[in-house]
Amino acid sequence: MTAENIPRATAKRLPIYYRYLNILHDTGKHRISSTELAEAVQVDSATIRRDFSYFGALGKRGYGYEVDSLLTFFKQILNQEHLTNVALIGVGNLGHALLNFNFHKDGNVRISAAFDIDDHIVNKIEDGVPVYPIPELAHQLQEQQIQVVILTVPSKAAQAVTDDAVAGGVKGILNFTPIRLSVPDDVLVQNVDLTNELQTLIYFIENFGK
Ligand code: ATP
Repeated sequence: MTAENIPRATAKRLPIYYRYLNILHDTGKHRISSTELAEAVQVDSATIRRDFSYFGALGKRGYGYEVDSLLTFFKQILNQEHLTNVALIGVGNLGHALLNFNFHKDGNVRISAAFDIDDHIVNKIEDGVPVYPIPELAHQLQEQQIQVVILTVPSKAAQAVTDDAVAGGVKGILNFTPIRLSVPDDVLVQNVDLTNELQTLIYFIENFGK
């Protein structure tokens, strides 16, 4: 079974499982039932069983799953042993926070290059990461074989920067701007609108909270 054969919905849950199994591993736990796992990761146990069956990891009735063998398997599927370099575009407040965020601690990702237009920070090292001027974006992405970028520029700059990144061969964009980006079909965009998320949460608390 390779990552391509796994349904998208299942693939999206893999990092959740992986993170929790790591925690179990660190606390010295060797096995877990699908019911326990369901409670911990908030995914129902039938879904977990179906997800795991795609990997041929069939839990034994009354025994559950072996934590270590699942971890080894997920590590391989998620390519955790392979470090993926990611670029960050827009080193403002949020950009700085993300540069300081330790993605690598429980993942396979690190920000290895940043881009900005501000003369005060370009051609310098910010939080351990080199900041390149925006006109170098496409070239550097190609040169450094970076296929994923995090977008933390102001909204008005988002589409133009995206076009440059696409020209540089980018395949995935984690978009922190509220803009809906236009990209070719083979480029994936994952939108993270923090303001929207927070407002949704507040709305639910105000309207449906106890
Ligand atoms: P944040 O929105 O992350 O809190 P901020 O308020 O500090 O950031 P913004 O004006 O949103 O600042 O800009 C974020 C960063 O994007 C800044 O470092 C800015 O220099 C940079 N930036 C602005 N325009 C562009 C552009 N066209 N290309 C690349 N970077 C840009």
